[in-house]
Amino acid sequence: MEYKKISKAGAISIPVKLRREMNIKNGDAVSIEVMEDGGFKIKPYGMRCIFCDGIDDVMAFKGKGICEECKNNLRGDNNG
Ligand SMILES: [Zn+2]
Repeated sequence: MEYKKISKAGAISIPVKLRREMNIKNGDAVSIEVMEDGGFKIKPYGMRCIFCDGIDDVMAFKGKGICEECKNNLRGDNNG
């Protein structure tokens, strides 16, 4: 189990290994939820596009994030 100390500013850092696993990049927002057992649950806030890494207008597509622009590009492949 990983453990982290909270900085004087109240910040904690997420280990790089976990950030890679979760595809969280510097500057990303995360949501923090308090659990009944007294813990926290930290989740990526919004999804990141798996194609361009963008976070604007990203929606879930088969469990992955895809942004509006990449979705349109994918559609456009068939239409010329
Ligand atoms: Zn995209």
